Amino acid sequence: MRTSTRVVVIGGGIAGCSTLYHLTQEGWSDVMLLERNELTSGTTWHSAAQVTNFGMNQTMVGLKTHSIQLYKELAEDPDYPINYHHADGGIRLANTEDQMDGYRHFASMARGMDVHFEVIDAAECARRHPLISTDNLLGGLWDPLDGDIDPAQLCQALARRARKAGAEVHRNTPVTGLRQLPDDSWIVSTDKGDVHAEIVVNAGGYRVNEVGAMMGVHHPVASMEHQYFLTEEIPAIREAGHRMPLLRCPISDYYCRQEKNGLLVGFYEQDCKTWGMDGIDPNFVNALCPDDLDRVTDVLEGAFARMPALMDTGIHTVVNGPITYTIDGAPLVGPIPGKRNAFCIIGLRAGLGEGGGHGWLLAQQIVHGEACYDTWVIDPRRFTGHTNVELTALKAIEDYQNEFRFHFPHEHRPAGRPVKTTPLTPVLAAEGAAFGVVNGWERMEYIKPAADFHEDYGFRFNNVFDIVAGEVATVRNAVGLTEVNGFNRFEMTGSGVHDFLDRMICGSVPRRAGKVGLGYLLNEQGMLKSEATIANLPDGRVWYGSAAASECHDMDWLQGHLRKDEDVQIRSLTNDHTILVLAGPKSRDVLQAVSREDWSRAAFPWLSVRSCFIGIAPAVVMSVSFSGELAYEIHLPNNQLYAGYLALRRAGEAQGMKLFGSRAVESMRLEKGYLHWKSDILTEFDPFETGLARFVKMDKPDFIGKSALENRGAAGPRKKLVSLILDNTDAPAHGGASIMIADTVVGTVTSGDWGHRVNANLALGFVDAEFAQIDQRVEIDVLGSRISAQIIAPGPYDPDYTRVRA
Ligand SMILES: Cc1cc2nc3c(=O)[nH]c(=O)nc-3n(C[C@H](O)[C@H](O)[C@H](O)COP(=O)(O)OP(=O)(O)OC[C@H]3O[C@@H](n4cnc5c(N)ncnc54)[C@H](O)[C@@H]3O)c2cc1C
Repeated sequence: MRTSTRVVVIGGGIAGCSTLYHLTQEGWSDVMLLERNELTSGTTWHSAAQVTNFGMNQTMVGLKTHSIQLYKELAEDPDYPINYHHADGGIRLANTEDQMDGYRHFASMARGMDVHFEVIDAAECARRHPLISTDNLLGGLWDPLDGDIDPAQLCQALARRARKAGAEVHRNTPVTGLRQLPDDSWIVSTDKGDVHAEIVVNAGGYRVNEVGAMMGVHHPVASMEHQYFLTEEIPAIREAGHRMPLLRCPISDYYCRQEKNGLLVGFYEQDCKTWGMDGIDPNFVNALCPDDLDRVTDVLEGAFARMPALMDTGIHTVVNGPITYTIDGAPLVGPIPGKRNAFCIIGLRAGLGEGGGHGWLLAQQIVHGEACYDTWVIDPRRFTGHTNVELTALKAIEDYQNEFRFHFPHEHRPAGRPVKTTPLTPVLAAEGAAFGVVNGWERMEYIKPAADFHEDYGFRFNNVFDIVAGEVATVRNAVGLTEVNGFNRFEMTGSGVHDFLDRMICGSVPRRAGKVGLGYLLNEQGMLKSEATIANLPDGRVWYGSAAASECHDMDWLQGHLRKDEDVQIRSLTNDHTILVLAGPKSRDVLQAVSREDWSRAAFPWLSVRSCFIGIAPAVVMSVSFSGELAYEIHLPNNQLYAGYLALRRAGEAQGMKLFGSRAVESMRLEKGYLHWKSDILTEFDPFETGLARFVKMDKPDFIGKSALENRGAAGPRKKLVSLILDNTDAPAHGGASIMIADTVVGTVTSGDWGHRVNANLALGFVDAEFAQIDQRVEIDVLGSRISAQIIAPGPYDPDYTRVRA
């Protein structure tokens, strides 16, 4: 065993083997995998090992496509062929029109990744799967490439190829300790001695938190017991003359695939069970939990009703094993928050299907700093600080119980809520607020018209449409007040702050006290990393503000680029302050009534910041607007938030002020063409492609990403972000929808909503540069219908910015 290596991967299941293999593919051969027992002796060995192409966003679809292509290549390797039932096909069933709408959207989204799902009716489902009944069935989503693989052979094949490329694999070598050295490299302790590694990767499966504890980290991953059974032979399968497609059922929560000439049926029962919450027996190796089919009776009935042949078939084996879940159901693949040179690939609940792709994206991040797709949906830094064991378990249970029931747009499920609140949360609730969740924060979405109002979740405009229209009208015509909690806010102090920011941001950085500016941070490849509002407070402090979930991500990026001799201190105020946004033409009058400062346009123009009192509450106020109306962000310390709120409410009465929520903000920001981080601002595009050229200063001496941008310049943009107006009125274009010309996909929607002030169905999306011209007509696949749309100039509402500057 080498005593020094670039990367130690801890764990030899699919996650570890795939990471190791892909590191060698990215050019790093001096890498090592340490496995405490035999390869695949955790969850991987007993996996049902279904390999689907289905995902709910393009990153997941893309990484699964990579898995499928890789597994096919491995299966066809003449030296070491492995068993892979590729392209048996699979159906996700549905019995409501809303589910069918979801499938129509996912099919539109996947087409942009060159993945071709089909939405089929009930009769077609039965034609393709001769064992199923069509009772209580509307149809389903057909994934032509669905299949299953031999998990042990897959891992052995990956390890074999990695070894051939120079990697070391050590079995029966438990990692017992991790110690970080001052240069951020690691000492990895094992019972066979220490290994010095530049980078470590936690791929410990259900032992993720044993490995995490060695580096002082708790990962939001919990294990659930999960069962499937294998049946005796079913004559109808042999008679069918083809392999049965896979089934996944959100109506009765089971999946099913062919195993030999019988079936494998797995269950997601409501009466489910966490596993290993109080520690895991060190001898739980190649092991299973006791069978407990009584627990899954509810689900069994649904599976039997759909496949009556099961009733006449014996069960010969039951498998019950631990499967890992995270807070939001997606795995954690990427840098470990708050650590240097430490990555993880954990919380995989469909690791066999996804593992090939996750290992690929992780290896790219380790070697190049960024992957080919924007990886935010799987980034471990997307949760900030609130993800303890108890919350993780509650969300894991909820997610398990809803395994195949995707979230509808705006649906926020109830488990573990509220997690993060401000003193205003109960006050707003009493006012009738409906809340969504943003990184754990309860964020007001709109004010309900009645206490018993419930949103009809779906992919089409629904019963919240008119409510949002009303809130937008208030903001446009008078003044509205909303709370923006959890907004990321770093306070930066020290003599080097502006020079530091100048290096980090690709455009001008405001240096004058009292000024606010918007800036963009690029990665080394010149792609968009972050968006930040920089505010120079009059007393010399600098506030760096960014999206609500970006705290760990941005802190990591900023701290990682601080030079040792630089006089810059960064501390997070995210949990200490909350923003109240006052927006609308009468917002100045309200502000003037609660504060003794001069709020005139001359004294406090657009993009200014000052400290003041709002009533008796100390505040920092910025004249910035995300709505396109004259607006003020009022940053209040949480202990005086209510005092500030009361003062504003009282002063607002004379101006007809009402509360508005984040749904109105979303509509208004689209009308202005303002972008959302990680919807429209992605690491897959540079600032020119994203329409942010005015925020790039190529004549600055240097900034991170500058040389990459210069090199890219000659090639010109590949795609461009454009604003679109759609001809339909029944549904928005959801993020991911395909933009087409004839039968060719020319782009992808990033966000869409109704613009109530311009009275139009609006969207933003990236389209191939050659088509990115104003007035270009395209079609957008909205829920299976080709909707005619036109590219328009960005920000159709008040294009001259007269209202924000009023
Ligand atoms: C019943 C069941 C059915 C499933 N069906 C499917 C399916 O159909 N499709 C699908 O995609 N997924 C399925 N899954 C999920 C899938 O099996 C897992 O997501 C996947 O196996 C997880 O792989 P892993 O590498 O993350 O973890 P593991 O396979 O658990 O590997 C982790 C490895 O880390 C090692 N390790 C831990 N601690 C240390 C240490 N200190 N030092 C060294 N090594 C250490 C362990 O020994 C282990 O080998 C199923 C899971 C279950 C339970």
